[in-house]
Amino acid sequence: LCARAASSLIASIDQGTSSSRVILYDAVTLRPVASHQVELQSATSNPQAGWSQMDAKRIVGTVTDSAAAALAAAGASASDVVGVGITNQRESTVVWDKRTGEPLYDCILWHDARTATTVSALADELGGQDALRATCGLPLSTYFSGVKLRWLLETVPAVKEGFESGTALVGTVDSWLAWNLTGGAGGRATRHVSDVTNASRHVSDVTNASRTMLMNLSTCGWDGGLVRALGVGAAEGALPTIVSCAEEIGRAPLTGMIGDQQAAMVGQRCFGVGEAKITYGTGAFMLGRPRSRPRIRAVPSSHGLLSTALYRFGASAPTQYALEGAVASCAVGINWFKDSLGMIGTAPEISSLAAQAPSPHLSPDLPVPEGTEGLVFVPAFGGLLAPHWRDDARATLVGLTLAHDKRHVARAVLEGIAHQAKEVTVCMAADTGAALTGLRVDGGVALSDELLQYQADLCGIAVQRPRDVETTALGAAIAAGLGAGVWSSIADIPSSGDDIERTFEPAICEEERTARCASWQKAVESSFGWARE
Ligand code: ADP
Repeated sequence: LCARAASSLIASIDQGTSSSRVILYDAVTLRPVASHQVELQSATSNPQAGWSQMDAKRIVGTVTDSAAAALAAAGASASDVVGVGITNQRESTVVWDKRTGEPLYDCILWHDARTATTVSALADELGGQDALRATCGLPLSTYFSGVKLRWLLETVPAVKEGFESGTALVGTVDSWLAWNLTGGAGGRATRHVSDVTNASRHVSDVTNASRTMLMNLSTCGWDGGLVRALGVGAAEGALPTIVSCAEEIGRAPLTGMIGDQQAAMVGQRCFGVGEAKITYGTGAFMLGRPRSRPRIRAVPSSHGLLSTALYRFGASAPTQYALEGAVASCAVGINWFKDSLGMIGTAPEISSLAAQAPSPHLSPDLPVPEGTEGLVFVPAFGGLLAPHWRDDARATLVGLTLAHDKRHVARAVLEGIAHQAKEVTVCMAADTGAALTGLRVDGGVALSDELLQYQADLCGIAVQRPRDVETTALGAAIAAGLGAGVWSSIADIPSSGDDIERTFEPAICEEERTARCASWQKAVESSFGWARE
């Protein structure tokens, strides 16, 4: 273990769907020192219904701007930074020209549904939605990078030509950032580990790679069979080298890379088997470590969860795995309520509005008011993920009467998030063979006390919120510190920042919980089949 000067910093780049931010941590205490964040709404466009894409150069620009502003706020310079970690929105896909550094198309975002037709054609051709699950741990879905790559190859001539001429590279946002931060077009692009100092590195870490549908989850290498099955053979030579989450990756000094949900798990210090967390951001994602199986083997899910790489700390360390339940719409629904409907001015207002939902028809037997008065909102804006995996579902508001107003809708939007997350916890318990005893939460939307109370009510377990909900950034800082040799193992990581700020206990009875979950199931069924061709 090498002791560093107290002034040493670890920079965490948290490149999310709604913003890019850089948080500087003290490398000794792991406490945040300074941060800067730039919103990305203006870089995002929706050129057609269901499409969502982002200006890839703005992704890099907002990261470098945030880094400069955070360093200035800390009164520090780049030479004070001993390690840089990247955590990022996963699955979002970029193809770029390695000679110029210019993207050949916008970054197609993870929740973009343009590949729905490609996905159903692939499912028919390959023998169902789960045809590739045994190899890559994932069902065929619009979310994963491989099908986005297939669409790019088929639709954007410059992408096909770039792969054919060997001038294009493809990667997820971690790759795109790593390549730019290690030199970009100015460096000599390399896929080899030997020459890390002066070359732009074309790499992806094992957690991001595990979300492409192109990585074999057992070998943690690109899989020729998957590449052929998805019809992206032309891009095989343009894929990044898969690296671990914590090693010397290249100049910057880039020493850590880890997908955002895996980073949150690391930031919450969920290193033990049986531990689980939910991150409420643009989407909501639950990760859990199976209790019943060996830690270093991927566990298949029979309840619609994803098998995914959790982390690998060190080039020669074994990969750790997790099960993941993905919910597409979390803040998405809140932002729709705010921006598209104009019901509130800022996201936090949804909670105070929901808390005002009057309950005039309360049964005296119920321990707490039902709140929404029978109104249920299923936020299936672009389909439903775990456990339904229905691309054809669309958002549904059912049970409206003239007694309802926007307060009930606000509450139904928050309850819709909690219902989806609850379904995922049930799958997780079934897959891991152990009931959850408690749930750790984080992410921007976890600041809503109301949401977390509904979550505790619906799950019937305690929900714990840490003091610092920026666990994603913290996880990338931990990876970067391990990669830089600040700590030699996870046992050495300082324990600050993981203390619990508040615990939400269930406040409804079992009958009430069962009744609400039954209403939710009815509402979910009515959301199916509304996607327009
Ligand atoms: P991501 O990492 O996916 O970009 P974040 O975890 O940063 O998302 O969460 C940002 C979202 O959290 C915002 O879009 C906003 O809608 C929501 N949000 C922030 N504060 C609150 C709050 N107090 N209550 C409810 N939602 C909130």
